[in-house]
Amino acid sequence: MSISSFHPPVRTLMGPGPSDVHPRILEALGRPTLGHLDPLFVGMMDELKSLLKYAFNTENELTLPISAPGSAGMEACFVNLVEPGDTVIVCINGVFGTRMRENVTRIGATAVTVDGEWGKPVDPAQLEEALKAHPEAKVVAFVHAETSTGALSDAKTLCALARQYDCLSIVDAVTSLGGVELRVDDWGIDAIYSGSQKCLSCTPGLSPVSFSDAAIAAIKARKHPVQSWFLDMNLILGYWGEGGKRAYHHTAPVNALYGLHESLVMLQEEGLENAWARHRRMHNALAAGLESLGMRFVVDADSRLPQLNSVYIPEGVDDAAVRQQLLADHNLEIGAGLGDFAGKVWRIGLMGYSARMENIELLLASLAEAMQAQGYDCDAQAALEAARAQA
Ligand SMILES: *Cc1c(COP(=O)(O)O)cnc(C)c1O
Repeated sequence: MSISSFHPPVRTLMGPGPSDVHPRILEALGRPTLGHLDPLFVGMMDELKSLLKYAFNTENELTLPISAPGSAGMEACFVNLVEPGDTVIVCINGVFGTRMRENVTRIGATAVTVDGEWGKPVDPAQLEEALKAHPEAKVVAFVHAETSTGALSDAKTLCALARQYDCLSIVDAVTSLGGVELRVDDWGIDAIYSGSQKCLSCTPGLSPVSFSDAAIAAIKARKHPVQSWFLDMNLILGYWGEGGKRAYHHTAPVNALYGLHESLVMLQEEGLENAWARHRRMHNALAAGLESLGMRFVVDADSRLPQLNSVYIPEGVDDAAVRQQLLADHNLEIGAGLGDFAGKVWRIGLMGYSARMENIELLLASLAEAMQAQGYDCDAQAALEAARAQA
Protein backbone atom coordinates (compact mmCIF):
# COMPACT_ATOMS: atom_id res chain seq x y z
CA MET A 1 0.00 0.00 0.00
CA SER A 2 1.33 3.44 -0.78
CA ILE A 3 -0.74 6.37 0.28
CA SER A 4 0.94 9.72 -0.36
CA SER A 5 0.32 13.21 1.01
CA PHE A 6 -3.10 14.76 0.49
CA HIS A 7 -3.10 17.85 -1.74
CA PRO A 8 -6.60 19.26 -2.17
CA PRO A 9 -7.36 21.66 -5.04
CA VAL A 10 -8.20 25.29 -4.25
CA ARG A 11 -12.00 25.41 -4.26
CA THR A 12 -14.17 28.49 -4.02
CA LEU A 13 -16.48 27.83 -1.08
CA MET A 14 -19.91 29.41 -1.49
CA GLY A 15 -22.03 27.01 0.49
CA PRO A 16 -23.34 27.16 4.08
CA GLY A 17 -19.81 26.87 5.53
CA PRO A 18 -16.93 26.37 5.65
CA SER A 19 -16.24 29.58 3.75
CA ASP A 20 -13.05 30.53 1.92
CA VAL A 21 -10.17 30.84 4.38
CA HIS A 22 -8.01 33.91 3.86
CA PRO A 23 -4.33 33.17 3.05
CA ARG A 24 -3.29 35.15 6.12
CA ILE A 25 -5.21 32.70 8.30
CA LEU A 26 -3.79 29.65 6.52
CA GLU A 27 -0.32 31.08 7.05
CA ALA A 28 -1.01 31.64 10.77
CA LEU A 29 -1.99 27.97 11.19
CA GLY A 30 1.48 26.87 10.13
CA ARG A 31 3.38 28.90 12.75
CA PRO A 32 5.47 27.04 15.37
CA THR A 33 3.42 25.07 17.87
CA LEU A 34 3.87 26.25 21.46
CA GLY A 35 3.14 24.32 24.64
CA HIS A 36 -0.45 25.04 25.64
CA LEU A 37 0.64 26.45 29.01
CA ASP A 38 3.57 28.44 27.56
CA PRO A 39 3.31 32.04 28.82
CA LEU A 40 3.38 33.33 25.23
CA PHE A 41 0.46 31.08 24.33
CA VAL A 42 -1.46 32.10 27.45
CA GLY A 43 -0.96 35.74 26.41
CA MET A 44 -2.43 34.94 23.01
CA MET A 45 -5.42 33.28 24.69
CA ASP A 46 -6.08 36.51 26.59
CA GLU A 47 -5.95 38.48 23.35
CA LEU A 48 -8.36 36.00 21.77
CA LYS A 49 -10.86 36.62 24.55
CA SER A 50 -10.65 40.40 24.00
CA LEU A 51 -11.05 39.99 20.26
CA LEU A 52 -14.10 37.75 20.76
CA LYS A 53 -15.64 40.31 23.12
CA TYR A 54 -15.25 42.85 20.33
CA ALA A 55 -16.87 40.56 17.76
CA PHE A 56 -19.78 39.73 20.08
CA ASN A 57 -20.19 43.34 21.29
CA THR A 58 -19.98 42.27 24.91
CA GLU A 59 -18.15 42.91 28.15
CA ASN A 60 -18.90 39.35 29.34
CA GLU A 61 -15.83 37.95 31.10
CA LEU A 62 -16.87 34.42 30.20
CA THR A 63 -16.19 34.75 26.46
CA LEU A 64 -13.92 32.15 24.85
CA PRO A 65 -13.67 29.60 22.05
CA ILE A 66 -14.77 26.03 22.85
CA SER A 67 -12.25 23.54 21.37
CA ALA A 68 -14.78 21.91 19.05
CA PRO A 69 -17.19 22.92 16.25
CA GLY A 70 -20.36 25.01 16.49
CA SER A 71 -22.45 22.00 17.54
CA ALA A 72 -20.29 21.73 20.68
CA GLY A 73 -20.91 25.41 21.42
CA MET A 74 -24.63 24.67 21.13
CA GLU A 75 -24.28 21.76 23.52
CA ALA A 76 -22.15 23.84 25.93
CA CYS A 77 -24.92 26.43 26.24
CA PHE A 78 -27.64 23.85 26.83
CA VAL A 79 -25.85 21.52 29.24
CA ASN A 80 -24.68 24.43 31.40
CA LEU A 81 -27.96 26.38 31.56
CA VAL A 82 -30.51 23.58 31.50
CA GLU A 83 -31.06 20.95 34.20
CA PRO A 84 -33.20 17.82 34.23
CA GLY A 85 -36.82 18.80 34.82
CA ASP A 86 -36.49 22.36 33.47
CA THR A 87 -38.79 23.73 30.78
CA VAL A 88 -37.19 25.37 27.75
CA ILE A 89 -39.05 27.19 24.98
CA VAL A 90 -37.37 26.32 21.68
CA CYS A 91 -38.26 28.30 18.57
CA ILE A 92 -38.00 26.15 15.47
CA ASN A 93 -37.95 27.63 11.97
CA GLY A 94 -35.37 25.33 10.37
CA VAL A 95 -32.94 22.47 10.93
CA PHE A 96 -30.84 24.04 13.67
CA GLY A 97 -33.88 24.73 15.86
CA THR A 98 -34.67 21.01 15.79
CA ARG A 99 -31.15 20.31 17.08
CA MET A 100 -31.76 22.69 19.99
CA ARG A 101 -34.87 20.70 20.89
CA GLU A 102 -32.82 17.51 20.77
CA ASN A 103 -30.29 19.01 23.20
CA VAL A 104 -33.06 19.90 25.65
CA THR A 105 -34.74 16.50 25.65
CA ARG A 106 -31.45 14.62 26.02
CA ILE A 107 -30.79 16.59 29.21
CA GLY A 108 -34.07 15.29 30.60
CA ALA A 109 -35.73 18.70 30.36
CA THR A 110 -39.02 19.55 28.63
CA ALA A 111 -38.94 21.34 25.28
CA VAL A 112 -41.95 23.51 24.46
CA THR A 113 -41.65 24.31 20.78
CA VAL A 114 -42.70 27.45 18.95
CA ASP A 115 -43.09 26.06 15.46
CA GLY A 116 -42.59 28.56 12.66
CA GLU A 117 -42.66 28.31 8.91
CA TRP A 118 -39.38 27.46 7.18
CA GLY A 119 -37.97 30.51 5.42
CA LYS A 120 -39.66 32.94 7.83
CA PRO A 121 -38.13 34.56 10.93
CA VAL A 122 -39.27 33.46 14.39
CA ASP A 123 -42.56 35.22 15.20
CA PRO A 124 -42.28 37.22 18.48
CA ALA A 125 -46.07 37.08 19.01
CA GLN A 126 -45.97 33.27 18.89
CA LEU A 127 -43.09 33.25 21.39
CA GLU A 128 -45.04 35.53 23.73
CA GLU A 129 -48.03 33.17 23.61
CA ALA A 130 -45.78 30.28 24.62
CA LEU A 131 -44.23 32.34 27.43
CA LYS A 132 -47.71 33.19 28.76
CA ALA A 133 -48.81 29.56 28.54
CA HIS A 134 -45.64 28.28 30.27
CA PRO A 135 -44.77 30.44 33.27
CA GLU A 136 -42.54 27.56 34.46
CA ALA A 137 -40.17 28.08 31.49
CA LYS A 138 -36.59 28.91 32.47
CA VAL A 139 -34.90 29.41 29.10
CA VAL A 140 -35.83 30.64 25.61
CA ALA A 141 -33.71 29.34 22.73
CA PHE A 142 -33.67 30.36 19.08
CA VAL A 143 -31.42 30.56 16.02
CA HIS A 144 -30.47 34.10 15.01
CA ALA A 145 -29.39 33.21 11.46
CA GLU A 146 -31.06 29.96 10.28
CA THR A 147 -28.52 28.58 7.81
CA SER A 148 -30.92 25.91 6.56
CA THR A 149 -33.32 28.52 5.16
CA GLY A 150 -31.53 31.90 5.01
CA ALA A 151 -33.91 33.65 7.44
CA LEU A 152 -32.75 36.24 9.98
CA SER A 153 -34.74 36.51 13.22
CA ASP A 154 -35.07 39.63 15.37
CA ALA A 155 -32.79 38.62 18.23
CA LYS A 156 -33.22 41.93 20.05
CA THR A 157 -37.00 41.59 20.31
CA LEU A 158 -36.92 37.86 21.14
CA CYS A 159 -34.35 38.35 23.95
CA ALA A 160 -36.32 41.28 25.38
CA LEU A 161 -39.39 39.04 25.55
CA ALA A 162 -37.42 36.27 27.25
CA ARG A 163 -36.22 38.72 29.89
CA GLN A 164 -39.70 40.21 30.36
CA TYR A 165 -40.92 36.72 31.31
CA ASP A 166 -37.88 35.98 33.54
CA CYS A 167 -36.25 33.55 31.15
CA LEU A 168 -32.62 33.30 30.16
CA SER A 169 -31.89 33.32 26.41
CA ILE A 170 -29.72 30.95 24.38
CA VAL A 171 -28.91 32.27 20.91
CA ASP A 172 -27.36 30.38 17.99
CA ALA A 173 -25.10 32.87 16.21
CA VAL A 174 -23.04 30.35 14.26
CA THR A 175 -23.80 32.01 10.93
CA SER A 176 -24.56 35.53 12.17
CA LEU A 177 -21.31 36.44 13.99
CA GLY A 178 -19.31 38.83 11.80
CA GLY A 179 -21.94 38.84 9.03
CA VAL A 180 -24.89 40.80 10.42
CA GLU A 181 -25.54 43.16 13.32
CA LEU A 182 -25.18 41.33 16.64
CA ARG A 183 -25.03 43.04 20.06
CA VAL A 184 -24.84 40.62 22.95
CA ASP A 185 -24.96 43.17 25.78
CA ASP A 186 -27.39 45.70 24.26
CA TRP A 187 -29.82 42.93 23.32
CA GLY A 188 -29.57 41.14 26.67
CA ILE A 189 -28.40 37.78 25.31
CA ASP A 190 -27.48 35.37 28.14
CA ALA A 191 -25.72 32.54 26.33
CA ILE A 192 -24.51 32.61 22.75
CA TYR A 193 -22.42 30.34 20.56
CA SER A 194 -20.89 30.67 17.12
CA GLY A 195 -18.52 28.87 14.76
CA SER A 196 -15.12 29.66 13.31
CA GLN A 197 -15.87 28.59 9.72
CA LYS A 198 -18.74 30.84 8.66
CA CYS A 199 -18.46 34.64 8.61
CA LEU A 200 -15.17 34.59 10.54
CA SER A 201 -13.68 32.68 7.58
CA CYS A 202 -11.40 30.58 9.75
CA THR A 203 -10.98 26.81 9.49
CA PRO A 204 -13.77 24.70 11.03
CA GLY A 205 -13.52 23.25 14.52
CA LEU A 206 -13.82 26.09 17.04
CA SER A 207 -16.89 27.55 18.69
CA PRO A 208 -16.76 31.00 20.30
CA VAL A 209 -19.21 31.27 23.21
CA SER A 210 -20.17 33.99 25.68
CA PHE A 211 -22.20 33.88 28.92
CA SER A 212 -23.78 36.84 30.76
CA ASP A 213 -23.59 37.38 34.54
CA ALA A 214 -27.15 36.06 34.86
CA ALA A 215 -26.15 32.92 32.97
CA ILE A 216 -23.14 32.43 35.26
CA ALA A 217 -25.35 32.86 38.34
CA ALA A 218 -27.67 30.17 36.96
CA ILE A 219 -24.72 27.83 36.36
CA LYS A 220 -23.45 28.42 39.92
CA ALA A 221 -26.93 27.75 41.36
CA ARG A 222 -27.35 24.38 39.63
CA LYS A 223 -28.69 21.48 41.64
CA HIS A 224 -27.18 18.85 39.34
CA PRO A 225 -23.59 18.76 38.10
CA VAL A 226 -23.26 19.59 34.39
CA GLN A 227 -23.74 16.25 32.64
CA SER A 228 -20.81 16.81 30.27
CA TRP A 229 -17.37 16.84 31.86
CA PHE A 230 -15.70 18.35 28.77
CA LEU A 231 -18.23 21.18 28.36
CA ASP A 232 -18.69 22.08 32.04
CA MET A 233 -17.97 25.84 32.07
CA ASN A 234 -16.91 25.66 35.74
CA LEU A 235 -13.98 23.46 34.71
CA ILE A 236 -13.23 25.26 31.44
CA LEU A 237 -12.93 28.51 33.40
CA GLY A 238 -10.01 27.05 35.35
CA TYR A 239 -8.15 26.84 32.05
CA TRP A 240 -9.36 30.00 30.31
CA GLY A 241 -10.10 32.21 33.32
CA GLU A 242 -8.33 35.44 34.30
CA GLY A 243 -5.63 35.65 36.92
CA GLY A 244 -2.70 33.92 35.30
CA LYS A 245 -3.17 30.57 37.08
CA ARG A 246 -4.08 28.00 34.44
CA ALA A 247 -5.18 24.52 35.43
CA TYR A 248 -4.84 21.84 32.79
CA HIS A 249 -8.27 20.88 31.49
CA HIS A 250 -7.61 19.69 27.93
CA THR A 251 -4.86 20.49 25.45
CA ALA A 252 -5.99 23.54 23.51
CA PRO A 253 -5.91 23.15 19.71
CA VAL A 254 -2.90 25.47 19.67
CA ASN A 255 -2.47 26.10 15.94
CA ALA A 256 -6.20 26.28 15.27
CA LEU A 257 -6.37 29.07 17.84
CA TYR A 258 -3.63 30.97 15.97
CA GLY A 259 -5.97 30.85 12.98
CA LEU A 260 -8.94 32.18 14.93
CA HIS A 261 -6.75 34.91 16.42
CA GLU A 262 -5.66 35.98 12.93
CA SER A 263 -9.23 35.97 11.61
CA LEU A 264 -10.37 38.18 14.48
CA VAL A 265 -7.42 40.54 14.02
CA MET A 266 -8.57 40.87 10.40
CA LEU A 267 -12.14 41.54 11.55
CA GLN A 268 -10.86 44.25 13.88
CA GLU A 269 -8.79 45.80 11.06
CA GLU A 270 -11.81 45.90 8.77
CA GLY A 271 -14.13 47.07 11.55
CA LEU A 272 -17.14 45.04 12.66
CA GLU A 273 -19.72 47.40 11.18
CA ASN A 274 -17.79 47.59 7.90
CA ALA A 275 -17.85 43.79 7.74
CA TRP A 276 -21.63 43.79 8.24
CA ALA A 277 -21.95 46.44 5.49
CA ARG A 278 -19.73 44.45 3.12
CA HIS A 279 -21.89 41.35 3.53
CA ARG A 280 -24.99 43.46 2.79
CA ARG A 281 -23.41 45.09 -0.27
CA MET A 282 -22.23 41.76 -1.68
CA HIS A 283 -25.67 40.25 -1.04
CA ASN A 284 -27.29 43.07 -3.00
CA ALA A 285 -24.95 42.41 -5.93
CA LEU A 286 -25.54 38.64 -5.84
CA ALA A 287 -29.31 39.08 -5.51
CA ALA A 288 -29.42 41.42 -8.52
CA GLY A 289 -27.48 38.88 -10.56
CA LEU A 290 -29.56 35.88 -9.49
CA GLU A 291 -32.82 37.72 -10.11
CA SER A 292 -31.54 38.70 -13.53
CA LEU A 293 -31.03 34.96 -14.18
CA GLY A 294 -34.74 34.55 -13.35
CA MET A 295 -34.21 32.95 -9.95
CA ARG A 296 -36.47 33.48 -6.94
CA PHE A 297 -35.44 33.84 -3.29
CA VAL A 298 -36.99 31.66 -0.57
CA VAL A 299 -36.91 34.42 2.07
CA ASP A 300 -38.60 37.84 1.84
CA ALA A 301 -36.16 40.73 1.33
CA ASP A 302 -36.74 42.22 4.81
CA SER A 303 -35.68 39.08 6.70
CA ARG A 304 -33.06 37.73 4.33
CA LEU A 305 -29.59 36.81 5.54
CA PRO A 306 -27.00 38.52 3.34
CA GLN A 307 -24.53 35.71 4.01
CA LEU A 308 -26.82 32.80 3.12
CA ASN A 309 -28.91 33.06 0.00
CA SER A 310 -31.56 30.38 -0.53
CA VAL A 311 -32.99 30.32 -4.05
CA TYR A 312 -35.46 27.92 -5.64
CA ILE A 313 -34.00 25.54 -8.21
CA PRO A 314 -35.73 26.39 -11.50
CA GLU A 315 -38.23 23.88 -12.90
CA GLY A 316 -36.56 21.21 -15.06
CA VAL A 317 -33.03 21.88 -13.75
CA ASP A 318 -31.29 18.94 -12.07
CA ASP A 319 -30.01 19.86 -8.60
CA ALA A 320 -27.15 17.35 -8.28
CA ALA A 321 -25.99 17.71 -11.91
CA VAL A 322 -25.58 21.47 -11.57
CA ARG A 323 -23.68 21.27 -8.28
CA GLN A 324 -21.48 18.52 -9.74
CA GLN A 325 -20.67 20.63 -12.82
CA LEU A 326 -19.81 23.68 -10.71
CA LEU A 327 -17.41 21.58 -8.65
CA ALA A 328 -15.85 19.70 -11.58
CA ASP A 329 -15.53 22.58 -14.06
CA HIS A 330 -15.03 25.57 -11.76
CA ASN A 331 -13.90 24.21 -8.37
CA LEU A 332 -16.94 26.01 -7.00
CA GLU A 333 -19.07 24.69 -4.14
CA ILE A 334 -22.61 25.79 -3.37
CA GLY A 335 -24.94 24.23 -0.80
CA ALA A 336 -27.80 21.80 -1.36
CA GLY A 337 -31.15 22.19 0.38
CA LEU A 338 -31.39 20.74 3.88
CA GLY A 339 -34.34 18.96 5.52
CA ASP A 340 -37.66 20.07 4.02
CA PHE A 341 -35.75 22.01 1.35
CA ALA A 342 -33.67 19.09 0.00
CA GLY A 343 -33.84 19.01 -3.81
CA LYS A 344 -35.86 22.24 -3.90
CA VAL A 345 -33.36 25.00 -3.14
CA TRP A 346 -29.71 25.91 -3.39
CA ARG A 347 -27.98 27.72 -0.58
CA ILE A 348 -25.39 30.18 -1.80
CA GLY A 349 -23.08 31.43 0.92
CA LEU A 350 -21.41 34.83 1.02
CA MET A 351 -19.59 34.38 4.29
CA GLY A 352 -16.49 36.23 5.42
CA TYR A 353 -13.72 36.09 2.83
CA SER A 354 -16.17 34.50 0.38
CA ALA A 355 -18.20 37.71 0.34
CA ARG A 356 -16.37 39.46 -2.50
CA MET A 357 -17.12 40.47 -6.07
CA GLU A 358 -14.68 37.99 -7.63
CA ASN A 359 -16.65 35.08 -6.12
CA ILE A 360 -20.01 36.53 -7.13
CA GLU A 361 -18.89 36.91 -10.76
CA LEU A 362 -17.56 33.34 -10.84
CA LEU A 363 -20.81 32.05 -9.33
CA LEU A 364 -23.12 33.92 -11.71
CA ALA A 365 -21.16 32.98 -14.85
CA SER A 366 -20.72 29.31 -13.95
CA LEU A 367 -24.25 28.83 -12.59
CA ALA A 368 -25.69 30.32 -15.78
CA GLU A 369 -23.52 27.97 -17.85
CA ALA A 370 -24.50 24.89 -15.81
CA MET A 371 -28.21 25.71 -16.00
CA GLN A 372 -27.99 26.43 -19.74
CA ALA A 373 -26.44 22.96 -20.17
CA GLN A 374 -29.82 21.67 -18.98
CA GLY A 375 -31.84 23.78 -21.35
CA TYR A 376 -32.55 26.65 -18.96
CA ASP A 377 -32.75 29.97 -20.78
CA CYS A 378 -30.75 32.81 -19.17
CA ASP A 379 -28.24 35.56 -19.97
CA ALA A 380 -24.98 35.43 -17.98
CA GLN A 381 -23.72 38.78 -19.28
CA ALA A 382 -26.85 40.62 -18.18
CA ALA A 383 -26.59 38.99 -14.72
CA LEU A 384 -22.96 40.10 -14.34
CA GLU A 385 -23.88 43.65 -15.30
CA ALA A 386 -26.82 43.69 -12.86
CA ALA A 387 -24.50 42.50 -10.07
CA ARG A 388 -21.74 45.01 -10.87
CA ALA A 389 -24.24 47.85 -10.83
CA GLN A 390 -24.93 47.08 -7.12
CA ALA A 391 -21.36 46.53 -5.93
C1 LIG B 1 -23.15 25.44 10.89
C2 LIG B 1 -24.16 25.66 11.95
C3 LIG B 1 -24.14 24.97 13.16
C4 LIG B 1 -23.20 23.85 13.45
O1 LIG B 1 -21.88 24.20 13.41
P1 LIG B 1 -20.77 23.04 13.20
O2 LIG B 1 -19.48 23.80 13.24
O3 LIG B 1 -21.08 22.43 11.87
O4 LIG B 1 -20.91 22.07 14.29
C5 LIG B 1 -25.08 25.31 14.12
N1 LIG B 1 -26.00 26.27 13.89
C6 LIG B 1 -26.06 26.94 12.74
C7 LIG B 1 -27.11 28.00 12.54
C8 LIG B 1 -25.14 26.65 11.72
O5 LIG B 1 -25.20 27.32 10.57
